[in-house]
Amino acid sequence: MLWNHSFAFLEDDDCACSQSLTRIPKQVGIDGLRLQAGGDALKTIPVNSQFQIIARLDAQGSMAVLGLPGQRVLDVFANPSTVTDAMRRLVDLPAEQAVKVVQQLATLGFLQPSEQDCACASEDDCGPAVPSSPLTSWLHLTDRCNLRCDYCYLPHVREDMSSETGRAAIDATFRSAIANGFKQVKLKYAGGEPLLRFPLIVELHHYAQSLAEQHGLDLEGVVLSNGTLLTPAMVEILKSLRLRLMISLDGLGQHHDMHRRYAGGRGSFADVAEAVDLALANGLTPNISVTVSSRTAGGLPDVMAWILERELPFSLNFYRENELSASHEDMRLDEQKIINGMLAAFKVIEENLPRRPFLGGIIDRANLSASHTHTCGVGQNYLVFDQRGQIAKCQMHIRKPITDVHVADPLAVIRADQIGIQNISVEEKEGCKTCEWKYWCAGGCPLATYRATGHYDVKSPNCNIYKALFPEALRLEGLRLLKYQDDPEVVQKIVA
Ligand code: SF4
Ligand code: SF4
Repeated sequence: MLWNHSFAFLEDDDCACSQSLTRIPKQVGIDGLRLQAGGDALKTIPVNSQFQIIARLDAQGSMAVLGLPGQRVLDVFANPSTVTDAMRRLVDLPAEQAVKVVQQLATLGFLQPSEQDCACASEDDCGPAVPSSPLTSWLHLTDRCNLRCDYCYLPHVREDMSSETGRAAIDATFRSAIANGFKQVKLKYAGGEPLLRFPLIVELHHYAQSLAEQHGLDLEGVVLSNGTLLTPAMVEILKSLRLRLMISLDGLGQHHDMHRRYAGGRGSFADVAEAVDLALANGLTPNISVTVSSRTAGGLPDVMAWILERELPFSLNFYRENELSASHEDMRLDEQKIINGMLAAFKVIEENLPRRPFLGGIIDRANLSASHTHTCGVGQNYLVFDQRGQIAKCQMHIRKPITDVHVADPLAVIRADQIGIQNISVEEKEGCKTCEWKYWCAGGCPLATYRATGHYDVKSPNCNIYKALFPEALRLEGLRLLKYQDDPEVVQKIVA
């Protein structure tokens, strides 16, 4: 029997991926052990009259859909019990089915050795926590952009990253990856609009591929674009380089254009929609990043239907105020408007449930697909290189660099910094410490919290929104698992 912990599935967006609490699973036999259901850490939410979704909200994390037999078995293990004793009390279930359900629940982590029987005397016995996330670098290829989005935090100076600076940034990323034991490097080609520097993307990614091969590291890359400059030739090159593409789309028609217009004032929706369809027609599936503000929340159901019709991966990210956007007061997050818009979008998801998992990106910076203690990788596994080779902790602080490409291990400098953004563990945030959702929410974007409160160590200003949406998101996941229960990745999560 394996104690099998969940692994992170993180959608692409413009933020830094956090590190999940993945541990190397260790083989533990259950024969003779007394098992117990996970207690307070278990959250169950009805999916329909027959099934409920169950989630372990503790640091291990796990999720499954339970039918009546699964619920029955969990009840029997409410107090510590050996499998043999439990079987005696489960006479109403066929023995073969009862054994299978016990095994499934144990594999998924919902049944665990009771405390006195636990084989894990220390963290070492449980296997080391491994840096399962990559070291991620944001490469700010240009500050220029052909759009002028109302929430943009950039001044759009006419400055580009040179080839030499780009290569130095990639060298620095690999130095830090090797020095800090990372197995994987992720590069985000960003700006400004990175497609304005498409030849540089190609050059730098070829260079990164050669370094990855030389050092035996995995490499992934993504281009974060507004989509308007995409051509079929670019799509072919992105595919050949195995680069993914993330396109920002905030609504249909007017709802997108309310946020994202060209420098001359014309809306960009038509061109972005064309770009998404162009990518699809040429065999590249873009990830859609939707920025949600009070101004556009009413349009969420329509854009969600459009996204699901095309079977696209997506993330819904809440607008974060910055110095340049603060004058647009109508974008500020009005709790009720955002909750209503999100719930209306969830309704559309319920009616068009995608096969693809969506919990990694459905509620802002929360990630319900894997337990974690930090909202993002800032200060841990994230480097943001500006066009001059200066390095910041977050792209929204790109003008507040901490170090530069010349230091031997920039990640060590970023990790040691005590002055810039402090990405505090959710276990240390006031208001979050006792929250049942803490390992899925992690307390929200540190910058948004600091801007709203002047503190990093407190709960998110979006807390009420999160708490209103988490149960609904879990219910949607339950419906998705039930709909695709023939899927090999799903079948183990249906306990019936
Ligand atoms: S921000 Fe709110 S929902 Fe998130 S962990 Fe903190 S208290 Fe819980
Ligand atoms: S601090 Fe906020 S904006 Fe910056 S990477 Fe983290 S979640 Fe994103």
